[in-house]
Amino acid sequence: MTALPDASFAPPPGYRLRLPGPTEVPEAVRAALGRPMINHRGPEFRALLAATEELVRPVLGTRNPVVFLAGSGTAAMEATLANILAPGERVLVASHGQFGERFAEIGRCLGAEVEVLDFTWGEAPDPAVIGAKLREGDYGALLVTHNESSTGVVADLEALGRLTRDTRTLLVTDSVSGLGGIEMRQDEWGVDIVVSASQKALMCPPGLGLVSLSERARARVQRNEGMPRFFFDFRKALAAAEKHETPFTPNVSHLAALHTALRLIETETLPKVLARHHRLAEALRAGGAAMGLAEFTKAPRRSSTVVVFEVPAGLEGGDIVRLMYQRHATVIAGARNRLQGRVIRIGVMGGHDEGTVLTDLVQLESVLRELGHAVSPGAGVSAAAAFLAG
Ligand code: PMP
Repeated sequence: MTALPDASFAPPPGYRLRLPGPTEVPEAVRAALGRPMINHRGPEFRALLAATEELVRPVLGTRNPVVFLAGSGTAAMEATLANILAPGERVLVASHGQFGERFAEIGRCLGAEVEVLDFTWGEAPDPAVIGAKLREGDYGALLVTHNESSTGVVADLEALGRLTRDTRTLLVTDSVSGLGGIEMRQDEWGVDIVVSASQKALMCPPGLGLVSLSERARARVQRNEGMPRFFFDFRKALAAAEKHETPFTPNVSHLAALHTALRLIETETLPKVLARHHRLAEALRAGGAAMGLAEFTKAPRRSSTVVVFEVPAGLEGGDIVRLMYQRHATVIAGARNRLQGRVIRIGVMGGHDEGTVLTDLVQLESVLRELGHAVSPGAGVSAAAAFLAG
């Protein structure tokens, strides 16, 4: 038998996780993960779940009940569609990137009749075009990615909410990479369902999904027809949530972590958290621009949680990603889709400060120079510093 390799899971010294998720987990949140296990049907867990739900509501901008799931964001997306759609039901996906495509794929896989409005990657979904399409047919739901992690574009949910509000079409949004870093006003905007996950701006490890459902979304879930579902049955989850429980054994430690992360947000205050994300993303953009890194999107509604840069002509995105890791132990993202090689993506999610983005820019500069891209020394970092000082 061949010996197993000597696996060391420790990241190299100076490791910086700068992906658009999973993101760095703050110390206090990591400590919460290590708390002693508790009875998931006991008073301590009920108190934890109740407090977590109460803390996440302002981040969602809702009074809705929230269902917590053991599973990543994709699990929460699939669970959502299985609960609101019937086999063969028409659903419209306003897709503006990789995760819109994923929503469509999940819908097809479950047996819904999926129609896709394909918006050019890098452009925001156009409410006028979507409105015209919605008037053509009877759609059970409109699915849209709030913050498209593949392009760095944010959809105008408020405008989309105006389209669906007085119709039978539920507005469902994937805010896996937005929630906690980009404003969400679920109730005010008329968003029926917000799907999110723990590992992005919510600063937790991957593995916890959450879904918040409006009254009419809950009514849809209760109907008897619909897709087969068992573990993911929101009828059970909503009934259990009323007692501050989950139908099956929950990921207790993840919930303890999320509770702590939400306390961090509450302490800093949500407006300040959102403003900090915006400011750091803008600083990163300013610094990138000064080094010849154009932003992929030219759309006005840009993400505060992920900055997507075009790779300069003559360079390969994968080389930048690889050298950032090899030279600096910094992990940034490329693309695993049609933009592969053409963009690099850097997360601005969670508990970062100015030092994070300034360091990103210093390291990017050295890597770009090594790859033969001319950058005048300090151009990126000084543009970002000037922005931050302004
Ligand atoms: N939607 C968006 C916008 C995402 O960024 C991601 C994760 N990159 C997902 C969905 C899928 O989430 P997960 O990887 O947690 O399944």
